[in-house]
Formats: sequence, C-alpha cells, structure tokens
Amino acid sequence: MTQDAAAPDELLQRLRHFHSDYFPLHQQRFQDLVTKGQHPKTLFIGCSDSRLVPYLLTGAGPGELFIVRNVGAFVPPYDQSHGLHGTMAAIEFAVLSLKVERIIVCGHSHCGAIRVAYEGAPDEAIALKAWLKLAEEALLPVQPSPEALARTEQRSVVLQLERLMAYPMVRRSIEAGALTLHGWHYVIEEGEIYIFDVERGSFVPASESTHSGTGPYQPYVEHDGQVFSVPEDEL
Ligand SMILES: [Zn+2]
Repeated sequence: MTQDAAAPDELLQRLRHFHSDYFPLHQQRFQDLVTKGQHPKTLFIGCSDSRLVPYLLTGAGPGELFIVRNVGAFVPPYDQSHGLHGTMAAIEFAVLSLKVERIIVCGHSHCGAIRVAYEGAPDEAIALKAWLKLAEEALLPVQPSPEALARTEQRSVVLQLERLMAYPMVRRSIEAGALTLHGWHYVIEEGEIYIFDVERGSFVPASESTHSGTGPYQPYVEHDGQVFSVPEDEL
C-alpha cells in the first residue's frame, strides 16, 4: 500500500479511530479501571500467533484478562537462577499480586512453534532454538503429519500445565482451592476451543464440555513412570 505524505498512515488512522469512536463509548469503564485499579481474575498464557485473539474468544473486555503471550504458549520451568524470565515474572505477578482465580494455557491449530519444533529453527535464531526445547517432551516420534501436529499442540498444552504445577505459588493456590488451571486448544478453522478434561484425559470441544477448565489438577502417572497427564493413545 502506498502512502500519501499528506494522509495519515493506516495505523495512525486506527489509533485516531479508537480515540474518537471507541473510547467515548467506554470512557467510564476505562476511568473506573484507573481509579479502582485492575482486578483481572484470569491469567491468559497464549501463543503469540496473530490468529489467536483472546478477547474475541472469551468475550472479555478491558480489565478482565492479564495476558502473557510468547512463541508457542510455553511455560518455562520454575527457575531460581535470577535470569530475565518474562513469562515466569508474569505468572508470579498474576498469582501473588493480582491473585487471579484461573490460569488458561491456550495453544492452537497450525501453530508455527510446534511445527518448527519438529523442523528446526534457523541457526541464527539462537533464542528461538532454546525456547522450542520447552515443547520437546510433547513431540511424537513420527513424521509431523497434520494429525500429529494437532496432537502435539494438545500434548504441549498439558505439558505446560504440568510445568505450572512446579511453580510453588501456583501449586499452593490450587491446593488452597483459590486457583484452577485451564488447558485450551483453539482450532482456528472450526471456531472451537477444545478443553482439556483431566478426568477423561482428553480434550473436549467447548460445545460439549460441562466446564471450561481442568478443576483441581491431579497429575496422571503413566505406567512407565513418566509423569504426563494424557496417555499418548488418547490424544
Ligand atoms: Zn502458535
């Protein structure tokens, strides 16, 4: 798209539209969120993918979702090495300061992170290569067919939920009944969220599910001793 020097660029036009059209209709809500502060009940950990739009899926508005997004919707291991852990900092802030009541981990169909975890990232992408290791345990020992990729996306969501359970403040809040975990797999082309059901050990479409989350989280121990909540043949 060519830009006329005299005309504002498209993004600038959108900013002006927000200020002139949207903001006046919702000004009181924004004012309240400033005066009373934010009190979101939900931490949403989602993939950075542009097709995943948390506000659309949940019908949430300003003040309702505390969001951290990264490549793949991964939860890094709980780590006391004092590194620059952005996702870990967001989890700590949400649970300890905001006292959120639920944490959603939301993966999605056609996730580039999961595909690249199989195919390998460019050599220059040193941080991405290291980051994608957070999906390694979810990968299947097969060629990454569309079906295998979808299963891996779901297995990755469960893996991240398990990592969350290793965060002391998360485990403590769950055991106190103050926090629930929700594992979601958004299938873009169906407009459907598949919800991880810990009792069934599988993902259930939201249109058929009786709840939006896993409830109190009980890790499932497989026969080979590996801790993984979903048996491979059920995903
Ligand atoms: Zn993704």
